[in-house]
Amino acid sequence: MREKIDANICAAVDKTNDGNYVPMSTPIVQTSSFYFPTYEDFMAVSDDEKNNYVYTRGSNPTTKSLEAKLAELEGGQKCKVFASGMGAIAATMFTLLGQNDHILMANTVYGEAVSLAKYLGKFGVEVDRVDVNDTAEIMAHVKANTKVIYFESPSSQKFEMLDLQQIADFAHAHGIYTVIDGTWASPLFQKPLASGIDIVIHSMSKYIGGHSDIVGGAVIGNQDIVDDIFEHGHQALGAVSSPFNSWLALRGLRTMPVRMAHLSKAIVTLLDGLTTDSRIKKIYHPYVGNAQQRELADTYLTGYGSLFAIDLVDDDFDKLNIFVDALEVMSVGVSWGGFESLVLPAYKGNNLANLQERGLPASHIRMYLGLEDPTSVLADIEQALNQAYGPQ
Ligand SMILES: *Cc1c(COP(=O)(O)O)cnc(C)c1O
Repeated sequence: MREKIDANICAAVDKTNDGNYVPMSTPIVQTSSFYFPTYEDFMAVSDDEKNNYVYTRGSNPTTKSLEAKLAELEGGQKCKVFASGMGAIAATMFTLLGQNDHILMANTVYGEAVSLAKYLGKFGVEVDRVDVNDTAEIMAHVKANTKVIYFESPSSQKFEMLDLQQIADFAHAHGIYTVIDGTWASPLFQKPLASGIDIVIHSMSKYIGGHSDIVGGAVIGNQDIVDDIFEHGHQALGAVSSPFNSWLALRGLRTMPVRMAHLSKAIVTLLDGLTTDSRIKKIYHPYVGNAQQRELADTYLTGYGSLFAIDLVDDDFDKLNIFVDALEVMSVGVSWGGFESLVLPAYKGNNLANLQERGLPASHIRMYLGLEDPTSVLADIEQALNQAYGPQ
């Protein structure tokens, strides 16, 4: 069999021939329900909605085409997509965790995922959240009832890498599920299943959609796990991707390899320019990490995501304010992964305690490099720093 190439998976025409034509672009099958010629035909499939088209809260041809591509890209047996990244995360936790189980969240994972895990306390689920610099530290926080290790690598806000293989090996030896939110690297630049991680989650709202026009999520893993998540997390919680959003995600996939190849180079250009600026105290991104972080990046990443963070040289809120408002190419806004460069200060006027807890200074700013020319984004940041601090 020919070797699978990511760019070709993304570009591949879905040649499923259900009629007497095969459209080059996968059609949007905009229907809630599917017609059956006879009662018998309906009965034959109604018990297995994951493998048959009965109702769009179960399966839909547009969505299925997307799921097939994402499973192939991650090297997983199966994928289920959801109405949002949080829909995918919630469905996964809901399925894997039960009363008296413990979930260990490592690294600075997406805030809403932490909130959800804490909320599960209501149903008797225990959660610990640990910031680790060294993967081996995770093991010290595992308990007898740990059911799931949930992490990001690189993590949100600090962009620290963990050792996937080490986590997977340890977890397998102890009967613990491993779940990684792989959104930062996209399905192209990191393949966690190949290192033995059980489940990969993506927010499709970011690089997969790629155009800031959809909210969506995906779960990829082996057939048994994904079927379980389908039954309990997808069918029961109902965070269904609409056929139109699935189609937009498929459309995003067509250009994802080209966008990511560009961004992986562009982010290096931008970070090289920022590392010499004395008004920036710290930059968070695997490319500028310490030797251990760089080694992990070399082991697990085949390219760089373009989401990073900086700390300004001081915690002066007025300067932070001037800096952010002076940016002209970068816009203030949440989310990332689209065409537009974005800036998002961590400080929101009332969350200093929360930042302290996460080890972040008040001057911490998340930045996303979009598809604009990276040298013009660099110039934009420099001119905004000049306005806040004066020329360096
Ligand atoms: C955005 C994001 C999510 C949540 O995804 P939604 O599609 O917004 O629900 C989860 N994890 C990471 C790393 C994200 O960036």
